[in-house]
Amino acid sequence: MKLKSSLILLVGSMVSISACTNNSSNVSNVPQDSSNQVNISSVRADHVVQIKLKNPAKDLISLSTKNFDLFGYKVKQKTVNARISTDEQNKLTSLGFKFNDTLEQNVAGSSGLLPGYMSYAQMKSKLDMLVAQNPAIAAVTNIGGTWEKTQGKSPNNIIWSINISSKKTADKKPGSLFIGGMHARELAPPEIMVKLAETLITQYGKDPAITQLVDTRDINIIPMVNVDGRIQVEKGNAWQRKNTHGQGVDLNRNFDSHWNYAGLNVPADWHDGDSNQSGETYSGTAPASEPEVKAIQDFYATKPNLNLVLDMHSYGEMFFWPVGYSNDAIPETAMFKNIYNNSFKNINYQGGTSMSLLYPTTATTDDYAYVKHHIMGLGMEVGQSFRPNYSEVETMWTQLKPNLLYLIKVSNTPVAAR
Ligand SMILES: [Zn+2]
Repeated sequence: MKLKSSLILLVGSMVSISACTNNSSNVSNVPQDSSNQVNISSVRADHVVQIKLKNPAKDLISLSTKNFDLFGYKVKQKTVNARISTDEQNKLTSLGFKFNDTLEQNVAGSSGLLPGYMSYAQMKSKLDMLVAQNPAIAAVTNIGGTWEKTQGKSPNNIIWSINISSKKTADKKPGSLFIGGMHARELAPPEIMVKLAETLITQYGKDPAITQLVDTRDINIIPMVNVDGRIQVEKGNAWQRKNTHGQGVDLNRNFDSHWNYAGLNVPADWHDGDSNQSGETYSGTAPASEPEVKAIQDFYATKPNLNLVLDMHSYGEMFFWPVGYSNDAIPETAMFKNIYNNSFKNINYQGGTSMSLLYPTTATTDDYAYVKHHIMGLGMEVGQSFRPNYSEVETMWTQLKPNLLYLIKVSNTPVAAR
């Protein structure tokens, strides 16, 4: 740990905070940049509450724009989870919300990854091993370094992409891109991304449907974008979501597409959540200010055959199509609904825009893909916790696999003439 000060956080209905040396596995993530003063009252602990929503659409917008760290929205139960500071607990009460303490599965006392999960280093070894099994159809590429690498701090922190296709005419085939690990604390998506790569490579020549996909599509998978943040999680900072630049930037609010709602006619307070450095959706100092985001944007630019991007997050069970900041239909809404009806609806995922299912978002990678490159920019939330036991990841994969293969199949559908 390179922190000048650290905090021990005790789990319970009340949160105790005291300055001390860092020798506990219960150490929360605190801002990394020693030039920033840590505001004790704003530090969130392992204190998670389940908030009862009266009017979910209105309440979710209200809470997200007030900078609450929201996750695990349950549509039928009308509840959402939030990790809160003591200030935020008071704020919730004053806003009239009812809430109960809850436990976020496998977070309290965490000291790294759970059994079964791959570390960043193990993920890279696994990708190399898969390529070695069939180099004729697979290759691993360095698509850029992380913030820490650009600062000379962590020379090995590289974002890796694996390409899977019969190589001769790969760049002329309809392309798709699957992204995981944009948010460090979300453990299931990188595992599912590697399972997807493994299935495509090891079943090639055995399973006729997969052989057909690899022969006729250009498939790209970036299993772990936020490598710096992920390594923090591996060190025990289970709540780390953002990268490690200053107090952290939310990579999925930093893309160059209506960054911080620029150019959109939206309520003024929508900007607030994205502008607060300590917030979990802090959007950075400028569009694509973060090297991780630049790397993904450059990847889109060098792949003119891309037709479809799926960015996988956790948790909740939802499938998103563009655009994140509006409920208004876009010309392709019927097409996206059709894709949803033929895929994730069958496993009871909710489908819609981020705005219609959760709260407004902008400058996300899926909106960027749609708005800037006019390709299918899709997102999803999988699972029911940030840190599911590995057996749950296996179950998730079994459910998701046919639907992810379906997305590869329909990636030959151009959105519109470019
Ligand atoms: Zn996420």
